[in-house]
Amino acid sequence: MPDSVDVQSPRLGGSAVWSPSVVPPIGVELSNAQALAVAFRHLADIGFAENMAGHITWQPEGQTEMLVNPWGLWWAELTASDICTVDEDARVVRGRWDVTPAIHIHTELHRARPDARVVIHNHPYYVSLLASLQTLPELVHQTGSLFLDDLCFVDTYDGEVDTASRARELAERIGGANLAILASHGVIATGRTLAEAVYRSATIERVCKLAYHVMLTGRTPPPMNRSDMAGMQASLIERAADVYWAGAARMTIKADRGVLE
Ligand SMILES: [Zn+2]
Repeated sequence: MPDSVDVQSPRLGGSAVWSPSVVPPIGVELSNAQALAVAFRHLADIGFAENMAGHITWQPEGQTEMLVNPWGLWWAELTASDICTVDEDARVVRGRWDVTPAIHIHTELHRARPDARVVIHNHPYYVSLLASLQTLPELVHQTGSLFLDDLCFVDTYDGEVDTASRARELAERIGGANLAILASHGVIATGRTLAEAVYRSATIERVCKLAYHVMLTGRTPPPMNRSDMAGMQASLIERAADVYWAGAARMTIKADRGVLE
C-alpha cells in the first residue's frame, strides 16, 4: 500500500501539538483596570480605534458588573483611573466619568453570552471598508484561520444601537460568533479573556486589510485546506493570543508608564 495523505483528515494544532516550557511575562502585576487601560492604548496604537468611538467591556468571571471606558476620552489617552464600572443594565456604579447608551451593545451581549467575558467594539479602517462594501473578508491567508466558522455578518444598518431592545436584537443576530462585522458600521469581537478579545480585534483589522488588497489584485487566491485551517485556528487561540497580549502590554507600558495610573 502506498503512503497516502488524506487532506481532509483532522489536523491538530495548539496545545495538542506543542506548549512552550516558558513564555516571556508582562513583568508587572496588573489590576483589571490597569490591564484594560493597557488594552485601550495598545489597540489605539495599532490603529484599531476611531478616536473616541467604541468600547471595551470586561465582565470578570462570576460578576455581573463590568469595567468600561467612559464617554469623551480617546482610547489613546486612557489611564487606569479613567476606567468606570457599570452594572448589567449599563448604569454607572463607580468611576468619575459618564458612559454612553451605546454601551447596551455590550451589556446585552454579555447577558446572552456567558462565555464572552470581554467585548470589544470600534470602527477600525479596513474592517469599516469591508463593512461599507457589505462583505466579510475572504480568509485567504493563514492568520485568517483564527476566524474559521466564527465570523458573523450583520447585514442591516439601522442607526445607533442606543437602547437595550435594539442591542438584544443585535446580540441575537450575532449568536455564538466571536467576531461580528456590522454593515456600514464596524466590528464586535469577543473573548473568554482580555488577551483573546484583544488578539481577535487586532487580527481582524489585519485580515480585512489583506483581503481588501487581495481584492485589488483582481486575482482569486487558491483556497486553503479546511483541516489545516482548523489546526492553525487552535494554535492561534491556544498559543498566540496570550503571548501577543503579553508583548503588547510590555511595549505599551514601556512607551508610557502613566497608563497604569
Ligand atoms: Zn460603533
